[in-house]
Amino acid sequence: MTSGMTDQTGANAADVGICIIGAGPVGATLACRLAREGIRVAVVDRAALPPMEHPDFDGRAYAIAAGSKNLLEAAGVWERLPHVPCAIEDILVTDGRPGEPASPLSLEFTREDATQPFGWMAEARALRVALNATLHASPNVTLLAPAEVSVVRNEAGVTVTAKDGRVVRARLLVAADGRGSRTRSQAGIAVTKLPYGQSGIVCAISHEFPHDNGALEHFLPGGPFAQLPMTGTAEYPHLSAVVWSEKDAMARRLAELPQREFARELQRRMGSRLGEVTPVGRRWVYPLSAQYAQRYTATRLILAGDAAHGIHPIAGQGLNLGFRDVIALSELLIEAHRRGEDPGSPALLARYQARCRPTNMLMFVATDMLDRLFSNDNPVLRLARDMGIATVQRFPRLRKAFVKHAMGV
Ligand SMILES: Cc1cc2nc3c(=O)[nH]c(=O)nc-3n(C[C@H](O)[C@H](O)[C@H](O)COP(=O)(O)OP(=O)(O)OC[C@H]3O[C@@H](n4cnc5c(N)ncnc54)[C@H](O)[C@@H]3O)c2cc1C
Repeated sequence: MTSGMTDQTGANAADVGICIIGAGPVGATLACRLAREGIRVAVVDRAALPPMEHPDFDGRAYAIAAGSKNLLEAAGVWERLPHVPCAIEDILVTDGRPGEPASPLSLEFTREDATQPFGWMAEARALRVALNATLHASPNVTLLAPAEVSVVRNEAGVTVTAKDGRVVRARLLVAADGRGSRTRSQAGIAVTKLPYGQSGIVCAISHEFPHDNGALEHFLPGGPFAQLPMTGTAEYPHLSAVVWSEKDAMARRLAELPQREFARELQRRMGSRLGEVTPVGRRWVYPLSAQYAQRYTATRLILAGDAAHGIHPIAGQGLNLGFRDVIALSELLIEAHRRGEDPGSPALLARYQARCRPTNMLMFVATDMLDRLFSNDNPVLRLARDMGIATVQRFPRLRKAFVKHAMGV
């Protein structure tokens, strides 16, 4: 797979079109998509790629929208997923307080509102297995992981030098190194950050009744609580993922509860829809914040994924937004490749920023507003959101417009 890494001339150098810093889902998918079109790419990660066969079920999962699924198919990743992701076919949106029945004004997106599922729940571990397998199978991918690198960029090109002496020369550098992107800060690109004082508890649950491919988004004063259907296993035939936001201190306290009390708190938020619930595997706690980069480009540099933007997980769209960057960027780079144009030209960089930044900012503002509107117990806002939920429920065309946007199609 590391073809061209140690160059046959002994120069220990590789010449590629694109060098990507960060082999997370965004960087790795971009590499697979471009390599499939015959573009030579290098991928650098400071960590070793996670092991192919992670022994434990770890409970983390991504909601993959339809547009993202199309991208993963075009990149040759989808077909390598070790098991079929679970389709989300119904979404129930409710408002309430823990332990109390949800407001009777609920909003239901059903399979009648769309021509295909709203999304697919893929285990993070399964996506990693598929990404690693695709990277390894591609002769056009040069991988440096684990590697600490230094980067020199100028109008002429990019040179990436690893501490062990390996060198990559490229025409364009893509920073996909996550929220704390060092590549972004080294380029002097500022970020605006918005702390929420909330943390997300992420875990898996097994439940008594089948989920029937239904998801629940329950808005509570401490933050949104989401149940997302997952493909069952032999041990746990009825399985779902939970993404549960709470104020920081409360989230830490809840995540440390003994199993039985934790199950009781889950049940108070989920109600009896899926019968008795049992937490499965590890519990993860992530501090939630949102941020956006002031610009997405610098000389021969493009920011993508969380390096460019981080949003509240209220709509499960964080990675999907990163995949939208990959879709736009791969289209531009494939077109430039076919025409023999420079992939790091100022014109291409400007087109990328114009295509992605305004729509990403819209999603940033929308998820921020949703969280502010729903994560509180103010009676006026409660009435306003219940009316909003009821209004969307009454108008099928409005419901379909919401669905289309969230699916990224
Ligand atoms: C609680 C929670 C729930 C979420 N749920 C969802 C969901 O349901 N659906 C969804 O779409 N999104 C979800 N998200 C968001 C999603 O996890 C992120 O948007 C996604 O991981 C971003 O991918 P990325 O590849 O841009 O960055 P990352 O996943 O952060 O990957 C960055 C990579 O860069 C590497 N790296 C970092 N620094 C360097 C360096 N200096 N040099 C080299 N390599 C480096 C890292 O090792 C890593 O491999 C959720 C997030 C949270 C916090």
